[in-house]
Amino acid sequence: MIPRTLFDADLEGFRDSVRKFLEQEAAPYHEQWEKDGQVSRELWRKAGELGFLCPTMPEEYGGVGADFRYSAVIMEEISKAGLSGIGWGLHSDIVAPYILNYGSEEQKRHYLPKLASGEMIGAIAMTEPGAGSDLQGVKTTAVREGDHYLLNGSKTFITNGQLADLVVVVAKTDPKEGAKGTSLLLVETTWDGFEKGQNLNKVGMKAQDTSELFFQDVKIPVGNLLGSMEGQGFFQLMQELPAERLQVALTAVAAAEAAWQWTLDYVKERKAFGKPVIAFQNTRFKLAELKAEITAARVFTDRCLELHLDKKLDIPTAAMLKQHTTDLQCKVMDECVQLHGGYGYMWEYPIARAWADSRVQRIYAGTNEIMKEIVARSF
Ligand SMILES: Cc1cc2nc3c(=O)[nH]c(=O)nc-3n(C[C@H](O)[C@H](O)[C@H](O)COP(=O)(O)OP(=O)(O)OC[C@H]3O[C@@H](n4cnc5c(N)ncnc54)[C@H](O)[C@@H]3O)c2cc1C
Repeated sequence: MIPRTLFDADLEGFRDSVRKFLEQEAAPYHEQWEKDGQVSRELWRKAGELGFLCPTMPEEYGGVGADFRYSAVIMEEISKAGLSGIGWGLHSDIVAPYILNYGSEEQKRHYLPKLASGEMIGAIAMTEPGAGSDLQGVKTTAVREGDHYLLNGSKTFITNGQLADLVVVVAKTDPKEGAKGTSLLLVETTWDGFEKGQNLNKVGMKAQDTSELFFQDVKIPVGNLLGSMEGQGFFQLMQELPAERLQVALTAVAAAEAAWQWTLDYVKERKAFGKPVIAFQNTRFKLAELKAEITAARVFTDRCLELHLDKKLDIPTAAMLKQHTTDLQCKVMDECVQLHGGYGYMWEYPIARAWADSRVQRIYAGTNEIMKEIVARSF
């Protein structure tokens, strides 16, 4: 075992309280939430009361001013428990930082306390039916008319899309331009012309509401542009995406560690040919190989977390980390399903859900092919 050095006793105490909260308030209901296609709002409110939402936001904006390790603990515990419906990572550590880092004082005072309390749920809408990897191809427009923008277009695959109250929308404020014409806007989902589409039927992450969004002449006050002027959207996205990729990596490694442990427990119990499945050399070697790979990924991820805490995690390193850890997560899930035999394919077994949940990690937050492009461009 290589001990983790970034988490002291305070953080481990915090980890225990997050775990207990999830065991009591989320795990017993998650199966129902899978049927509902979303988790309950009540869960968000309770988490807000306990400071589990937006913990890194400064106290003046409703947070507790914690460092990112506290967020990492929350993400890891959700991931280990397989509670893939809970979209707090995106809300707390992607949406809120956009407002903190680029928002006006008024935007911060207005929105951040509501996000921290769970009164508002956040989402970010980049992807469109015709533009995912190639964000310069975004067709949604926000055209200025006096003291507001008129937003038109549509988005798809938006995490927290059904529950969301506030969406950071990527739109062209200058449709003639590519990256230079792109801006981010804070859009409330109750505004006229904002419509939530279908809650999409996914292969995994069944309790996560992932949705289409439609905008028809949504009037956005000019004060809801993120940043001091139009056209900064691409720069803002590039600055924030490494943190998002680190988050994906943290959840990937935590999920892989959990799956490995469930599998070890299972093969010790399960018998074939008169002996436990762990007695076969293939089982022991597979688990040994996976253990080595997971350990290497854990050390890599923790080092990147440390770099992020020092504000030194660069774009190619974060891309490399996201690609490597999510490829590994999918490999681990696949091998662990195999070691469970037919039971591994049954939804009631956590490993089956974890296998289905893992697949998207190689697709969102930038596909792993795009990650390799980013790395290769840095040579
Ligand atoms: C469950 C889920 C949740 C999501 N949540 C969000 C969210 O909250 N907000 C949001 O904005 N989006 C979200 N997404 C969207 C996700 O980020 C996109 O699906 C992803 O970026 C890929 O875009 P695409 O689907 O358009 O695929 P495409 O861009 O069409 O890619 C298709 C294939 O082509 C490959 N490809 C594309 N360009 C290149 C290239 N230059 N070189 C090599 N290969 C390439 C891709 O890697 C992929 O294999 C989510 C998606 C899912 C499935």
